Amino acid sequence: ITQLYVPLNWFGTYYRMMQRNFIDMENMLDLFQEHVEVQDLPDAAALSVGQGTVKFEDVSFGYDERQPILRGLSFTVPGGSTVAMVGESGAGKSTILRLLFRFYDVDSGRITIDGQDIRLIRQRDLRASIGVVPQDTVLFNDTIRYNIRYGKVTASDSEVEMAAEAAQIHDKILGFPDGYDTKVGERGLRLSGGEKQRVAIARTLLKASNPPIVLLDEATSALDTNTERNIQAALRRMTVNRTTIIIAHRLSTIVDADQILVMREGEIVESGTHADLMRDPDGVYYDMWMKQLQEEKEKEEAEEREKEE
Ligand code: ATP
Repeated sequence: ITQLYVPLNWFGTYYRMMQRNFIDMENMLDLFQEHVEVQDLPDAAALSVGQGTVKFEDVSFGYDERQPILRGLSFTVPGGSTVAMVGESGAGKSTILRLLFRFYDVDSGRITIDGQDIRLIRQRDLRASIGVVPQDTVLFNDTIRYNIRYGKVTASDSEVEMAAEAAQIHDKILGFPDGYDTKVGERGLRLSGGEKQRVAIARTLLKASNPPIVLLDEATSALDTNTERNIQAALRRMTVNRTTIIIAHRLSTIVDADQILVMREGEIVESGTHADLMRDPDGVYYDMWMKQLQEEKEKEEAEEREKEE
């Protein structure tokens, strides 16, 4: 009996470990699908948003107390402006967005929206004020119209189409065999990464509360020049007059940002506009920029070659 029991037990442990790893992996891959218990205070206040200024004040945080991820981070995103975060993988960019959405509470310091500590306000209010455009948008197995309307279920057909137009995806949809009634998702038409992101932008534009703050995790997938242009136009429509924090990968997004935060190992190592940061040829940003330019050039050359063939 012991002989049988031991391997079974071992298998159980192993199985649980595997399971946990899968869940961890899912959490890390999907910025906004985490299930964490952050509770409202009994007397949590309503959030009152004016300009929508977001402030991180000396914020420290770690998923595990033995391993700090953000170390005394401070920055301000003035209401209506756009901040782009750049930096190597693991620098803590997604963590910043998760903290602002209050999936976790900070270990020390505080995060405020128009001066209100987000720990003291109702989560419902907080989340209604923040539009999120994830890197990989989940589409339902339903029509494209349904998928956009998900941003506001009471939206009329013309509202849906206006949002799609602003997100630069309307013409694309009209080109589908059944237009807005085309089935998308796993079992229907498969949209590309860039198209899915524009669906998410349309949803955000439609969102009932017209969120004053927008968080965007830019898709990393390579885009052709045309799609790139469409995405940028969609982004401009979404970000105008909204406080926007972007995990940026695209050069065009970064150049246009009001402020760029260069992250490394949980700290802001450089900040400023593109022009400011480019003044320091020994800086991290300068180096990053030169590498990206090179990649961009190679991409364009590849596109040219494809056209010629
Ligand atoms: P990327 O550009 O690759 O998305 P990032 O800058 O967004 O990177 P974060 O996702 O914020 O980085 O991760 C910062 C650090 O926190 C990483 O070392 C990561 O392994 C760790 N981390 C992220 N999520 C968790 C989690 N749920 N539990 C434990 N550690 C985590």
